[in-house]
Amino acid sequence: MRKILFASSEVHPLIKTGGLADVSASLPIALAQQDQDVRIILPAYRQCLEALDKIETVATIKLDGFHAPIEILQSTLPNSEVPIWLVNSPEHFDREGGPYGTTEAGDWEDNAARFTLFSRAIAAVAMDQSGLDWQPDILHCNDWQTGLAPALIANESDRPATVFTIHNLAYQGLYSQDVFEALDLPPSLWHSEGVEFYDLMSFMKGGLIYADHVTTVSPTYADEICTYEFGYGLEGLLSHRADQGRLTGILNGIDTDEWDPERDSYIDKNYSIKTIRHKSANKEALQKLFSLPEKEGVLLMGTISRLVSQKGVDLTLDAVGKLLDAGENIQLICLGSGEASYEQDLRVLRAQHPDKVGLHIGYSEELSHQIEAGSDVFLMPSRFEPCGLNQLYSLRYGTLPVVRNTGGLADSVVDAAGANLKNGFSTGFKFEAATAEELEETLLRAIGLFKHPRIWRKVMVTAMEQDYSWEKSSKAYQVLYDNLLNN
Ligand code: ADP
Repeated sequence: MRKILFASSEVHPLIKTGGLADVSASLPIALAQQDQDVRIILPAYRQCLEALDKIETVATIKLDGFHAPIEILQSTLPNSEVPIWLVNSPEHFDREGGPYGTTEAGDWEDNAARFTLFSRAIAAVAMDQSGLDWQPDILHCNDWQTGLAPALIANESDRPATVFTIHNLAYQGLYSQDVFEALDLPPSLWHSEGVEFYDLMSFMKGGLIYADHVTTVSPTYADEICTYEFGYGLEGLLSHRADQGRLTGILNGIDTDEWDPERDSYIDKNYSIKTIRHKSANKEALQKLFSLPEKEGVLLMGTISRLVSQKGVDLTLDAVGKLLDAGENIQLICLGSGEASYEQDLRVLRAQHPDKVGLHIGYSEELSHQIEAGSDVFLMPSRFEPCGLNQLYSLRYGTLPVVRNTGGLADSVVDAAGANLKNGFSTGFKFEAATAEELEETLLRAIGLFKHPRIWRKVMVTAMEQDYSWEKSSKAYQVLYDNLLNN
């Protein structure tokens, strides 16, 4: 049995802004089910303290750079037996708003201090200096908020092996040199082969340079981030780590208990491959919910997303707008929140086509399940997508993903065309260039295929047969942990 400390700044269902939270719950649960001694470490945000009922203080530590002692609280991840340690510094984490800021005011001004404190606490626990009497064999850190932890323990003897996973290279935690100096970090970290990045401090680089192994969440994204187009200036460093055999892409899995059309309690009627005909009841319920005409023959397109440029929201707006203007037999239902201009453009689209477009600006777990179950296709025209989870949920729900051929989307969807369609391997629709024209053409292909119910149904069944459970992916992490420990 290996001891694994899994460090993340968000964990579903306690606190979530995106896919990182889903992974930070389901990967530890999968590892625990495979008899690993895994513990999660997370900041004690107000939402977590409110959501967990049994919490006890198990240690108090003093960290460099912070005057007040920090408590480590212990609880259990809901719906599991995985222990969770919360780093309790009320001054930093007990406040109204999201984990990184608020929608109105943007990022918290003290994020560098908040996640330095978090990384220092992770390092203390990893070195068994926190009084918990437990030292991991593996410290597994995730995204920039935890990036300093591998750096802080890199030169310690008797330290755990360290893994750093990139969930999205677009968010790096960049701050000025003045901020670095105010954080009282070891000055030795400030150099170009440390956390310095063109005169700025990069939390992300702490993980990329100092971790024993770097992973990212799909094989294609692992290749893409080594290129100028996707690397944000870090492509040289990442290529170097890849050449050392120290960069691997492991596709995320999904929580198949939570996302299961056969048992999903949010949806109108449960279904499986055998009872696939019941999916249409969910379509009808969804149309009703959004006051759209309840028609079986219309192609219902769903999308759930952070409304940011990465997700190709503008491509959706343009392409779907054109198809609606052309009178195509389609409906669009969109759930999301994000940049005000995209929210506004979506409102305009709905106002122009009130009987064809349904919109919910906001965040809703329940609606996200209903959209996955009720739609015919799921739109995900991302400019880049490290892994993406919604296309995996869509496959399981027989809702054919329409995706750009990038990152995890490239690794998980097989286009419904040519030999793949003929041989029964297709699971969705794919296009290459991030343009509204290509998306529009691809949607026209989907509209065309939808007129052939038998072929469509075959693609749905193939999609639903795919296995993206965590069992496979978590085994890949275990092989990686073993290799690190054996070296
Ligand atoms: P990212 O992490 O880049 O946002 P992913 O596809 O990896 O993208 O994960 C997004 C997760 O967040 C999915 O579980 C998705 O269903 C969920 N999600 C995003 N926006 C919303 C929303 N408005 N309401 C409910 N769930 C959402």
